[in-house]
Amino acid sequence: MADHQSSCANCGASLLKTGKTACYAPPESAPPRPPHCPVLRYGEVVEDASQSLAGDGPDARMTRVAAQVEGMGYERCGGSVRARWTRVEDTIAFAGLMGWRKIGIATCIGLLDETAKLTAILEAQGLEPISVCCKNGGVDKAALGIPDAHKIRPGGFEAACNPIAQAEICNRLGTDMNVIVGLCVGHDMVFTRHSRAPVTTLVVKDRVTGHNPVAVLNGQHYYRRLRRERVLPGEGERSG
Ligand code: SF4
Repeated sequence: MADHQSSCANCGASLLKTGKTACYAPPESAPPRPPHCPVLRYGEVVEDASQSLAGDGPDARMTRVAAQVEGMGYERCGGSVRARWTRVEDTIAFAGLMGWRKIGIATCIGLLDETAKLTAILEAQGLEPISVCCKNGGVDKAALGIPDAHKIRPGGFEAACNPIAQAEICNRLGTDMNVIVGLCVGHDMVFTRHSRAPVTTLVVKDRVTGHNPVAVLNGQHYYRRLRRERVLPGEGERSG
C-alpha cells in the first residue's frame, strides 16, 4: 500500500465489509484508526474546523442547512431508512432553507434543453432562475490563443467557453447561489473561482456516460484498462 499520508480511500473495503470506520461509528464501538488516517496527523485541524462550524459564520450556517437537507433526504420506514430526495430536490430545499431565491445556472451549450427543464422546475418552486450558456459571446477559440489543432474540428470556427463571463453575469445579476450544469473540467474551476455566490454542481459533464462519471468506477470491468494505460502520453511525448 502506498504511503499517501492521507488515504481515506483505503477505508472503503472495511466500510463495505463491516459498515464501520473509526470516524463512522459511535466511539465505544468504533474500530481503531488505521495508519493512513489523516486525523492521526491533523487532529488539530479537525478540532479547529469543528469549532468554526459550530459558530455563526456563513460556512457554519451552510453546513448546518446542508445537514438538515441531508436528514430530510431520507425517510424512516420501520427500523430502516430510505433515501427519498434526488439531487434536484436537495438543491431546491437547500436554497429555500437558506432563504435564497435568485439562482444562477451556468450551463453547457449541450445541456440547454435540460437547463430549460430545470428552469421550469425552479420557477414552479418559487425560485428565480437565470441561466448563462458557456458559449456566450460566440468568440472563436483562436481569439483565446487556443491552437487550431486543439479544436474538436480543426480548420473552422469553433466557439470557446467563457466561464469568467458566465460568473460575472451571475455576479452582476446578484444571484444568491449558482448551479453548474455540465461545464467542462477546468471551465467549472474558473467559473467557481470567479463566482461571487456559492456554487454547487447539479450536472457533471461526462460525454461518454450520460453525465454519470461514477459509472466508470462502478463498471471497473470495462475501465480496468485505466489502471494500466495512461490517458495522456508520458513526459516528452506530449505536444502542445
Ligand atoms: S477512519 Fe480515518 S482514514 Fe478511515 S475514513 Fe475515517 S478519517 Fe479516513
